Amino acid sequence: MRLLLIEDDESLAGGMVTALRRAGYAVDHAATGAEGRRFYEAGQLDLVILDLGLPDIDGLSLLRELRQLLAGIPVLILTARDALSDKIAGLDAGADDYLTKPFAFDELLARIRVLSRRNGQMRETELQIGNVSINIASHEVQLNGEVQKVSRREFAILRALADRPGQVFSREQLEEKLYSWGDEVSSNTVDVHVHNLRKKLGHSLIKTIRGVGFILGGSE
Ligand code: CA
Repeated sequence: MRLLLIEDDESLAGGMVTALRRAGYAVDHAATGAEGRRFYEAGQLDLVILDLGLPDIDGLSLLRELRQLLAGIPVLILTARDALSDKIAGLDAGADDYLTKPFAFDELLARIRVLSRRNGQMRETELQIGNVSINIASHEVQLNGEVQKVSRREFAILRALADRPGQVFSREQLEEKLYSWGDEVSSNTVDVHVHNLRKKLGHSLIKTIRGVGFILGGSE
C-alpha cells in the first residue's frame, strides 16, 4: 500500500514517515503543496495524508483538487488543535477523516487501517478462498497464483458459491445461475461443472452436502 504524506512540519513528517514505514507502508513525503501535487499527478496511490496548513497552497484547495483527480482514494486531513471550522470545511471538501495535532502515531495507524479497509470493500473485485482467487472484473481464476482456465458456466457457479461462502446452494439454485447464459441446462449439468471445478482447483474447494446441495469447502 502506497501513501502520500503532504506535511510541511519536517520533524512531525519525519516521525510519521518512520512510523508508517515501520508499519509496512510505502510512503512518499512532500513538504509543500506543489511537491505533493507532483506526486499525486504521477500516479499509483492508495491513501493521502494532507496537512491543511501548507506554506504555498491552501490545503482546502489542494483537497478539492485531489478529490477531482483521485476520486476513489481516501484522504485523511491533519488540522491544528481546536480548529473546528477547519475540520468541518475539510470534511465538506471531501476528506474521509481527520486527525487533530498533536496525535499519537498509533491513532494515525488505526485511522489508516479503517480507511483502507473501507476503501477495499468499495473496490472489492477479488474473492479469495483458501489458495484460490477469483477476479470478478476479469473473470480470471488463479490457483496458488497460477491462472486456471475455467469456462463461463464454471465461473458462474464458482462466483455464486464464493459470493456467499457459508451458504448451501441447491442444484436448482446453481442451475438458475446458468440459465442467464441462455442455454439449455440438463439435469446433470451442475454436477459436471462442479466435477470440473474440483479437478482444476482442488477437490476440497466445493463440498457436496448429500441431499441438499453444494457449499464452498474452504482451504482444508
Ligand atoms: Ca503545517
